[in-house]
Amino acid sequence: MNLILMGAPGAGKGTHAKDISKQFSIPHISTGDILREEVAKGSELGKTAKSYMDEGKLLPDDIIIEIIKGRLQEDDCKNGYLFDGFPRTLVQAQKLDTISRIESVIYLKCDDDILIKRLTGRRIAEDGRIYNIYFDPPPEGIKTYQRDDDNEETIRERLRIFYDTFTPIMEFYKKKNNFHEIRGDEDRTVVYENILSILKNIQKGR
Ligand code: ADP
Repeated sequence: MNLILMGAPGAGKGTHAKDISKQFSIPHISTGDILREEVAKGSELGKTAKSYMDEGKLLPDDIIIEIIKGRLQEDDCKNGYLFDGFPRTLVQAQKLDTISRIESVIYLKCDDDILIKRLTGRRIAEDGRIYNIYFDPPPEGIKTYQRDDDNEETIRERLRIFYDTFTPIMEFYKKKNNFHEIRGDEDRTVVYENILSILKNIQKGR
């Protein structure tokens, strides 16, 4: 299955992508995670990426497309993959169309006030577990950190860019009849059930 999980920053793409990836044994390809790894390594790509990410801006399409092309050639992509945070622009979606057949795009829709609380309150533990100071506070004694781009100014910019670029991408996939919209601000288990019912229908319809 070749899938895309879409949603504004904070919509829960990463959380649900991890569960889907495990259940269907397909790799979770997050361009944000790939870029953060490059930043941590201090590579040339990482240095370039950091300057964009710290401002909440998107990296140039050609850099992202090269990353994706390389990633899709890896062995674990043979039986499908799940994109999270890609495509982020119409150009990326059009380019992807020439190298992959996407079976389903699932959009997690959320209200802005929830997104802002999720992002400003997000805290990450050293083992990668994600907490939230408003909804799911870390237990005492657990050391957490905040993502560099989870500050209010950058969050506002990331949301603005998301809404600017989202509509044309949605139209693109709606024309292909593989666009599904569900609420991302319901209970985590409810959201996941809704995702599963979409994916099971795809498997049935093959
Ligand atoms: P979020 O969805 O919470 O903003 P991501 O982890 O998906 O976070 O992305 C973090 C940052 O990485 C983005 O703000 C952007 O700078 C960069 N980035 C990630 N994916 C892409 C992409 N497909 N195209 C351009 N820039 C990207």
